[in-house]
Amino acid sequence: MEQASSPFVALGLSETISQSATTLGYTQPTPIQQQAIPAVLFGKDILGIAKTGSGKTASYVLPILQRLMDEQWVVQNRHVPVLVLVPTRELAVQVETVFKELSAGLAERPKVMAVFGGVSINPQMIGMQGVQVLIATPGRLLDLLGSKAIHLAEVKMLVLDEADKMLDLGFQEEMDRVLALVPRKRQNLLFSATLSAA
Ligand code: AMP
Repeated sequence: MEQASSPFVALGLSETISQSATTLGYTQPTPIQQQAIPAVLFGKDILGIAKTGSGKTASYVLPILQRLMDEQWVVQNRHVPVLVLVPTRELAVQVETVFKELSAGLAERPKVMAVFGGVSINPQMIGMQGVQVLIATPGRLLDLLGSKAIHLAEVKMLVLDEADKMLDLGFQEEMDRVLALVPRKRQNLLFSATLSAA
């Protein structure tokens, strides 16, 4: 019988994805990873109360990479399957880096892109073609949606990272507009440093 060779495999991740975590020096899953990874693989909605430093980013990046490998969602006409909403440019770049680091060793690396305001929109519009994981701040996402550079009607997984901070920064209206465009039937992964924003 096959033995779970890594604690990440024991959470339901494939050897290949687990190897990505090990390569980055993750030997043991953090508590949020132990709880979130099996649930995300199972298709459940989750609410993670987790601060930066808890390993929250990998707790959704690892199972999302696994789901992308397993499900092979086809991106047609700029319909992105995985959307990660974040409050700031800094977090967008950080999350993109974690996706790239954890997918570096995969034979089929998903197309991951981070978009945010304060920089030219044109390269972002061009880059949207074929994107499988879009990491976006709400305002810039709405601009891209307005110009039909991206569509949300096929979103399967929606991550709201630092949801409390998004509300603190006054993104409620933008978030509501985005949420109105994603399908009702989807998997929701909500992360917040506090429970009150949930
Ligand atoms: P985060 O809470 O997502 O901002 O992650 C904080 C830091 O923990 C990052 O530098 C990650 O690379 C690192 N990290 C995430 N998961 C693990 C793990 N299982 N073992 C060791 N380090 C980790």
